[in-house]
Amino acid sequence: MSKPPLKLPQARILVTNDDGINAPGLKVLEKIARSLSRDVWVVAPEMEQSGAGHSLTLRRPLQVRRIAPRRFAADGTPTDCVLLAVNHLIEGRRPDLVLSGVNRGSNLGEDVTYSGTVAAAMEATLLDIRAIALSQMRQGQVLSWHVAQQHGADVVRRLVSVPWTEGVLVNVNFPYLAKGKATGVKVVRQGRRAANIEIANATDPMGRNYLWIGDFTSDNPVGEGTDLWAVRQGAIAVTPLHLDLTHGAMVRRLSEAFG
Ligand code: MN
Repeated sequence: MSKPPLKLPQARILVTNDDGINAPGLKVLEKIARSLSRDVWVVAPEMEQSGAGHSLTLRRPLQVRRIAPRRFAADGTPTDCVLLAVNHLIEGRRPDLVLSGVNRGSNLGEDVTYSGTVAAAMEATLLDIRAIALSQMRQGQVLSWHVAQQHGADVVRRLVSVPWTEGVLVNVNFPYLAKGKATGVKVVRQGRRAANIEIANATDPMGRNYLWIGDFTSDNPVGEGTDLWAVRQGAIAVTPLHLDLTHGAMVRRLSEAFG
């Protein structure tokens, strides 16, 4: 089963993120969404939720703050925001498209398994809504939104112009480049980093030792045809992701082992 191409000016778009309601990337994405449709809703986390993955808040109530018409902040995860938006906050019909981001920093390779940005798109996919996660690569702490600003709307427009397969979301990463230097769009598979995780080991003001998980600093190796490779080429990486995590070849091998 697949959904037909989306008629954009009439589409209802939900915008969310994992960097929080005040994040600059959310403003960038809202602007992209408003250039595509006038029916834009925003439901985003009150606080930054980077690394929250697909977590769902079950053991405490969620406070929702209505900031303006069609604009809310919820003190939960990106997944909570999409669930609350679709099942309660958005009046009338469900959204046709969920856009998540633009994340401050890339979501490449295995990042997608930690990412709250990607998880919000996963949640929308589980709710049977087309969903796109968008992330802007940075260089260290230096970040500029202009690649996302320049290309975001066109990328979304092209993505929704094709039939959308059930259970699939699309992960988009904008390279970090000087203005006008993006080399196009590459449709690529999910890559894999040789992660180099930094763990800070220090003492807090109370004299207690702590460990703090830091950045995943390496983006090597970059096998050709992956998202990591594409952004290295200066291209916008577009990767369709499938929520069915089953590995077909291993199903057959294991079936034989247990047969
Ligand atoms: Mn984030």
